Amino acid sequence: MTDTAVPENTLPDSDGTEQFHSVGADLRDTTAPSGPIQERWDKRKFEAKLVNPTNKRRLSVIIVGTGLAGASAAATLGEAGYQVKNFCYQDSPRRAHSIAAQGGINAAKNYRNDGDSTYRLFYDTVKGGDFRSRESNSYRLAQVSANIIDQCVAQGVPFAREYSGLLDNRSFGGVQVSRTFYARGQTGQQLLIGAYQALERQIGAGTVEMNTRHEMLDLIVVDGKARGVVVRDMVTGAIETHFADAVVLASGGYGNVYFLSTNAMGCNVTATWRAHRKGAYFANPCYTQIHPTCIPVSGDHQSKLTLMSESLRNDGRIWVPKKKGDERAASDIPEDERDYYLERRYPAFGNLVPRDIASRAAKTACDEGFGVGPGGLGVYLDFADAIKRLGRDTVEEKYGNLFDMYARITGENPYETPMRIYPAIHYTMGGLWVDYDLQSNIPGLFVTGEANFSDQGANRLGASALMQALADGYFVLPNTIGDYLAGGGFEKVDESHPAAREAKAAVEERINKLLAVNGERTVDSFHKELGQIMWEYCGMERTAGGLMKAIALLRELKDEFWKDVKVTGVNEDLNQTLERAGRVADFFELGELMCIDALVRSESAGGHFRAESQTEDGEALRNDDEFAHVAAWESGGDTPVLHKEPLEFEYIEMKQRSYK
Ligand SMILES: Cc1cc2nc3c(=O)[nH]c(=O)nc-3n(C[C@H](O)[C@H](O)[C@H](O)COP(=O)(O)OP(=O)(O)OC[C@H]3O[C@@H](n4cnc5c(N)ncnc54)[C@H](O)[C@@H]3O)c2cc1C
Repeated sequence: MTDTAVPENTLPDSDGTEQFHSVGADLRDTTAPSGPIQERWDKRKFEAKLVNPTNKRRLSVIIVGTGLAGASAAATLGEAGYQVKNFCYQDSPRRAHSIAAQGGINAAKNYRNDGDSTYRLFYDTVKGGDFRSRESNSYRLAQVSANIIDQCVAQGVPFAREYSGLLDNRSFGGVQVSRTFYARGQTGQQLLIGAYQALERQIGAGTVEMNTRHEMLDLIVVDGKARGVVVRDMVTGAIETHFADAVVLASGGYGNVYFLSTNAMGCNVTATWRAHRKGAYFANPCYTQIHPTCIPVSGDHQSKLTLMSESLRNDGRIWVPKKKGDERAASDIPEDERDYYLERRYPAFGNLVPRDIASRAAKTACDEGFGVGPGGLGVYLDFADAIKRLGRDTVEEKYGNLFDMYARITGENPYETPMRIYPAIHYTMGGLWVDYDLQSNIPGLFVTGEANFSDQGANRLGASALMQALADGYFVLPNTIGDYLAGGGFEKVDESHPAAREAKAAVEERINKLLAVNGERTVDSFHKELGQIMWEYCGMERTAGGLMKAIALLRELKDEFWKDVKVTGVNEDLNQTLERAGRVADFFELGELMCIDALVRSESAGGHFRAESQTEDGEALRNDDEFAHVAAWESGGDTPVLHKEPLEFEYIEMKQRSYK
């Protein structure tokens, strides 16, 4: 942690949050249909204008991202006949971060006949998100979930099957049914291969132009509409402009603002942040998900954390010793001296409580001195009972690759000693604000997958991110973008347009500015310090004082970054330091907005836990009178503008979440 002192004059009164922001007009989602919730999506699809097949060939769409959200959208729009230009910063679309997803994808198929339904998945999502998502969106997500499985099976995705040959299911946190479809611990990889095959088919057919190793660095807005992007060719350094009739950002989440996270090292916020700076609202940035089952941090050298999939909580039991500071080996601690604290505190859901609750419970156990392993920052995830009940072979069949990964990283054998786990940053529920059509407040700019502020509210249930990414890309966007494109009126734009020239010049200027600093400190050392500030003050627990301190520290560190960062090499070459420097510069600005959002939202909800707002037994305490809204932020430098979109609950009664 930095020991930089906070200048006194930057510390406001404890309730002086207004100096960090201003409040703009309320926001409304004008595309959200009304009527019975079961009929809203069909109604919207029917009312949307259609583009006839011949006209589709004349319309173009840029899609930034080739993860599940981007690849599924590019393949589907290409198949529909649009001209698609697809971008990613990896050397192959198949290397998008989605490939890391392990545990599974939810769908309300009710194959287990255990009482599941579209309505129950909708209910679980709204409750799981602590009543901070839109009912219409969550219902549509649940509705479309069943189509995703059919689509993926048709593509040949090898979902696990049970003995009878039917697709198998398992359970994830926050639910009491089994609705998670999976392919061992490699679900994301198999789903992405399915989407990638469909994408490659379109590349072969000439409907999709693929641009790998191209990083979007700005959005081009012409007459108020999104019409293109500025990208850097990451191999030659060439700054290029590309144009289309609409732009889709499917650029993933921003968890790496914390430096250490379970996200792929390349994940960053630049695409959405640059769009934000061009006018797109950023919604609920403080909603971050901290996953309870990650391998604990082992030292200063680490640049990444490893997730142990939530699926492990189906069979693993979480416990800590009942005695503080107990240093005995797990196997020497008898049964009656173990505290299976989730089973004790939440008997109805046990080890399968939602992530926010499991993470906080682990933190509490460790803070109170019951943690295990180095520094007491760990709890046990124990498979001894499962191995006794199911046999080692079955456990190996279900989770083998995860166990192998754990053994490789820790040098411990999880079949013999319990795994040690601790919470880590994993997913971001915040993102660019979109309406029901997935369109941002900039006409023609659509945002899908983890990059949008999502249907998940203040906490995402496990196995629901893949569901959302594919729902958006295969089913929602292909229907809604047509309504926009059918409106037509897209005048030809090229690189000579003043808006394009201006955007390109701004990108070049920023790159030159980064290269010109020529200071002493590495980009990574700044990123690490930024991450420490975020984790300490805007991590698992937040307070007004801590957040104000974080804002002051971030501002100071950002100034230092622009005076002392050392970016080696030149632009006209492969230059990973330059790439990282640009991303970290954006993370500084995002981090500040996250802290402001967290400060202004003085309630607790889902993953956003304000220590000042908790129930007697330490659960998140919402304040529905003041905060039942989406916080959509307009860029405004040091004082961003807050627009509130009120949330209405017609179907599910808002009450204190209980998993007891
Ligand atoms: C370890 C791990 C395991 C997970 N397991 C599960 C699970 O089991 N179930 C589940 O539901 N969810 C899981 N998740 C969450 C889930 O994987 C992600 O939320 C989801 O894959 C995001 O998909 P996406 O398409 O939105 O973004 P991504 O897959 O992150 O793709 C982003 C794309 O955007 C491109 N891009 C980004 N910025 C730029 C730019 N500036 N210019 C050009 N291209 C850019 C990238 O190149 C990439 O192609 C897991 C997450 C992690 C970290």
